[in-house]
Amino acid sequence: MMIGGGCLCGSVRFRGEAEPRFQVKCYCNDCRKTSAAGHAAMMGFARHAIAISGEVKEFQSKADSGSDVFRAFCPTCGAGVFARNASMPEMIFVRASTLDDLSLFNPQLVVYAARAPAWDPVNAGIPSFPESPPRG
Ligand SMILES: [Zn+2]
Ligand SMILES: [Zn+2]
Repeated sequence: MMIGGGCLCGSVRFRGEAEPRFQVKCYCNDCRKTSAAGHAAMMGFARHAIAISGEVKEFQSKADSGSDVFRAFCPTCGAGVFARNASMPEMIFVRASTLDDLSLFNPQLVVYAARAPAWDPVNAGIPSFPESPPRG
């Protein structure tokens, strides 16, 4: 698929042609805090397939897995645009909230579903895990 998107003010943009390797809604504390919603909707792509323009700032934190996560946001408007995970350097995780065409996101998995607030319910009908999915 062709994807494109960017932050609220438009100074950070991304585009590329790639198929998402996974599409996930995450209700973990860090995703919730940085998304300004109950969850973050993320699409994982091969890093090399996505071109980014504009300056971002990154906030680094430890995921439950122990790996370092870098959440990139626009320093002007504050919108979170994408994230990187040090344990998966070949991947980029685009926030579906920043897509130009929101219909491209098709969630296939929900993680940390046990942390979903009542006002942001977990989708019925797609696999969900109460915490992180099992590895392997
Ligand atoms: Zn911006
Ligand atoms: Zn998360």
